[in-house]
Amino acid sequence: MDQRYDAIVIGAGVIGASVGLHLAKAGRRTLNLDRHAAAGFGSSSSSCAIVRFHYSTLEGCAMARESYFHWLDWGRYLGVADEKGLARYVNTGCLVVKNERNGGLAGVMHCLDELGIPYEELAARQVTERFPWIDAAAYGPPIPLDDERFGQPAGGEIAGAVYLPESGYVDDPTLACHNLQRACEHHGGRFRFGVEVVDILRESGSVAGVRLAGGDEIKAPVVVNVAGPHSGTVNAMAGVLDGMSVRTRPLKVEVCYVPAPKGLEYEQVAPLISDGDVGCYSRPTTGNHIVIGSEDPECDDRVWVDDPSDYNSNFTRQWETQVMREAQRIKGLGIPGQTGGVVDLYDVSDDWLPIYDVSDLPGFYMAVGTSGNQFKNAPLAGRIMAELVEKVEAGHDHDADPVTVPLPRTGRTCDLGFFSRKRRANRDSSMSVIG
Ligand SMILES: Cc1cc2nc3c(=O)[nH]c(=O)nc-3n(C[C@H](O)[C@H](O)[C@H](O)COP(=O)(O)OP(=O)(O)OC[C@H]3O[C@@H](n4cnc5c(N)ncnc54)[C@H](O)[C@@H]3O)c2cc1C
Repeated sequence: MDQRYDAIVIGAGVIGASVGLHLAKAGRRTLNLDRHAAAGFGSSSSSCAIVRFHYSTLEGCAMARESYFHWLDWGRYLGVADEKGLARYVNTGCLVVKNERNGGLAGVMHCLDELGIPYEELAARQVTERFPWIDAAAYGPPIPLDDERFGQPAGGEIAGAVYLPESGYVDDPTLACHNLQRACEHHGGRFRFGVEVVDILRESGSVAGVRLAGGDEIKAPVVVNVAGPHSGTVNAMAGVLDGMSVRTRPLKVEVCYVPAPKGLEYEQVAPLISDGDVGCYSRPTTGNHIVIGSEDPECDDRVWVDDPSDYNSNFTRQWETQVMREAQRIKGLGIPGQTGGVVDLYDVSDDWLPIYDVSDLPGFYMAVGTSGNQFKNAPLAGRIMAELVEKVEAGHDHDADPVTVPLPRTGRTCDLGFFSRKRRANRDSSMSVIG
């Protein structure tokens, strides 16, 4: 079967669907392909979908801030109804705890000031006045659960915190992907599910389309790799790894869902908490539960996965470790006898910052290495990828002169050279999920 499109997007997660939407909006006949049965059934479905601004680089903060305004106005941004309804942004505010690893948040506050993002600096005493259910004792730096000092205060209180009133989460990440699919289809984009790309086709030194398991070939002069944790596999198929100084790898992560302490209306009172002192981030969720993820403290082993289609997706002692760590901060948090939550993969780049770029194979692009922190940035990621494709396909040499994209909501310009596959690993990065 011979089929032709202007652009093929491999993946229909939150970033893939957004790339499809923006390419379709620009007038390209697009096709998103996904091995799963529906949009957002890959790692996007497991996302905590936290929307926050405290990245370690100004570029990261600006991207999150620009995208935030689209989540606030999601229906209008999409411009189309979805029979399943719309994902909803829930504002909770965000408490970011100061510690040594984040440099007392000096860099973060500088970025927030540059972007005019409101925040308050709180002393430990003010944290507990505002959130009396928080224990402000210092525990860090985090240590493994089997260390005999685990759970004992390190002495004194946390060095304070920064509170951002504008932060929150998207209540249904899979629905958000479906919303993007419907918006893309509204502009003529197509989606095929249950199909696996097994090879990238080339003709005369450029990309020419993809081959599916089963042998079908689909032709297109543009192919975008948005394969999430499979991004490295797809880049290998395209033969573009040698041209990358920053690469991607799948990392196993565990996220815990536990009941809030009895008597505490957690959904009503709790902000997001980003707490490097105990090594966790958390947010409220429905049913008065708490979602707890890891901020990847240095003492923890990182579980890199060779084959993202075949790994041990069971919870491990890491689950218990994260709940016990969070229980240091949230008074009265119990440790359930049964595990609950999700196990999934991040697609981690060498410096935990994403790669939004061309490749050494003309016509082959990548939006990869989202490192556990790009769900919130999907609206802008789609737009910058579409602008990149339009300019480069029109003859622009992006490697020599990086494409820039205006960010109207923040009044800044996004220099896509920052996200280059050929960058030196960025030393300003937190080298963690914080980005
Ligand atoms: C547990 C967890 C928590 C997270 N929490 C947050 C958070 O709070 N805030 C935040 O901003 N970000 C968060 N993230 C990160 C965020 O969810 C991801 O960056 C984002 O969802 C990636 O979207 P994607 O479209 O690139 O990838 P995915 O959603 O993984 O989609 C990739 C798709 O490609 C398909 N695919 C792969 N290979 C092939 C192939 N060969 N053929 C056909 N299809 C293929 C897959 O089936 C998959 O559906 C989290 C991630 C995880 C895993």
